[in-house]
Amino acid sequence: MTTLRIVLGDQCSDGLSALDGIDPTRDLVLMAEVRSECTYVRHHKQKIALVLSAMRHFAARLEARGLRVAYSRLDDPANTQSLRGEVARIAAAAGATRIVCTHPGEWRVLADMQGWAGATGLPVEIRDDDRFLCALDRFRAWAGDRKQLRMEYFYREMRRATGLLMDAPDLPAGGQWNYDQENREPLAPGTRPPAPLRFPPDAVTREVMALVAREFADHFGDLDAFGWPVTAEDAQAALEDFVANRLPGFGRFQDAMAEGEPTLFHALIGAALNVGILDPRAACQAAERAWRAGHAPLNAVEGFVRQILGWREYVRGIYWLRMPGYAATNALEARRPLPWFYWSGETEMACLRAAIGQTKKLAYAHHIQRLMVTGNFALLAGLDPAAVNEWYLVVYADAYEWVELPNTHGMALHADGGVMASKPYAASGAYINRMSDHCRGCAFDVKRSTGPRACPFNYLYWDFVARHAARFARNPRMAMPLKTLARMDPAKVQAMRGEAAAFLAGLKAGAA
Ligand code: FAD
Ligand code: SF4
Repeated sequence: MTTLRIVLGDQCSDGLSALDGIDPTRDLVLMAEVRSECTYVRHHKQKIALVLSAMRHFAARLEARGLRVAYSRLDDPANTQSLRGEVARIAAAAGATRIVCTHPGEWRVLADMQGWAGATGLPVEIRDDDRFLCALDRFRAWAGDRKQLRMEYFYREMRRATGLLMDAPDLPAGGQWNYDQENREPLAPGTRPPAPLRFPPDAVTREVMALVAREFADHFGDLDAFGWPVTAEDAQAALEDFVANRLPGFGRFQDAMAEGEPTLFHALIGAALNVGILDPRAACQAAERAWRAGHAPLNAVEGFVRQILGWREYVRGIYWLRMPGYAATNALEARRPLPWFYWSGETEMACLRAAIGQTKKLAYAHHIQRLMVTGNFALLAGLDPAAVNEWYLVVYADAYEWVELPNTHGMALHADGGVMASKPYAASGAYINRMSDHCRGCAFDVKRSTGPRACPFNYLYWDFVARHAARFARNPRMAMPLKTLARMDPAKVQAMRGEAAAFLAGLKAGAA
């Protein structure tokens, strides 16, 4: 009686539910590198290298625990290059009598998994993914028939449930649930954020990088700067480096952007969390310990815990609650193709050039760049949500649909009509100017809304508000911009809308 236990690429976790109760003498673990997973979108080269390297290290770790592992390498001629194909092939070769796996992160993979019983003739048990702090049933129960699924209320419930940052059962640490009002500063002049720890590729990663360079040469992004953690030990070191050096400044400068500073005070742990080599609860606990020891202020620690315990769990809940229909919505009827500069980074707009340039080089941009620069532009320009969603899924080392889609489709593009956010995160150049130094070196003038050097974010913003005025009239949170628009000189509005139309018509579309 052999049970085949499946470990997917983003399930490289010691405590994975698929491994619970494993019999080391009879059971077999299957880990498969398959082309279909590397190419369903043309992932950044660093993302493929990261996942394959984490998988190879994790397989060695399981073997060191005394477990038997069948590992399908991408370049093995017998590899069928699909998950279903490898499950069927290895199950037959091993004489397996049942299959056990952990619930996958993505809808697409769950649909495939549900066909494995038919493909193999074996019973398939899909266990909950208990690496998350909120089980999907719990999220469903919380969502219930609420009209609005606000993250803040979900987050408070998670604080109570986990006891993280709580002084007593209903008393949040410091007396407040949220310290965000202290977290909106631009980078103070002369501040040099401490560089994050990078991990030079070891022999396993170098071998994988050569494979990726050979097999996926036409995918987006550079490989050279690869420095991601690929083992649990590396991920723990990355977390400790963040807590010691950047967590104290994380809150204050969480929304800041700066030329030549791609990582600021951010943690750079999303890729490790999502591939499974770092535990989200441990990350929150490490931050809480730093606060209790007096090493980091509460606004920073609460802000960090909210991202993981709040946002990360919440977006996963929304994804599984609303899929598969969620991805097909297009509430703002946005249809414009993705401009070529999203792939090339070649644009005179300094903020976009910086965000896209570092994305190519590092497979990383921090939250405000994703939301308020590339996301904001896509929202204002009315870019097709499907194309934008795919771009975000391609370009980041931490991108998986369960977390990427609600953030892009819901938070950045408002394509879900307000499930995630009660108003669109739309902003003119003034926001980018307040939170960054990009405008100083830009070919455009952030103070102008019309004329040849006018900042495109300005006229695109007002064109966006005017274009959707009737739709937004019912939204009290859009009352301010609508009132301002109504008070503007109609000739100026007309001029801005004309410039917006000419600018958008001049965008060159393109695929990766
Ligand atoms: P930090 O800023 O240091 O935050 C710490 C951790 O909090 C992150 O590692 C992450 O696990 C969690 N977190 C923070 N914000 C969010 C959020 N909004 N949703 C979920 N988790 C969050 N995150 C991904 O993990 N994968 C994605 O594909 C992804 N796509 C995004 C697309 C858009 C348009 C936007 C606006 C955000 C996206 N995010 C995504 C959320 C966030 O930008 C990244 O988690 C973060 O930038 C990762 O870098 P970090 O580890 O330095 O994060
Ligand atoms: Fe971006 Fe406009 Fe500032 Fe240029 S002027 S960096 S386009 S916001």
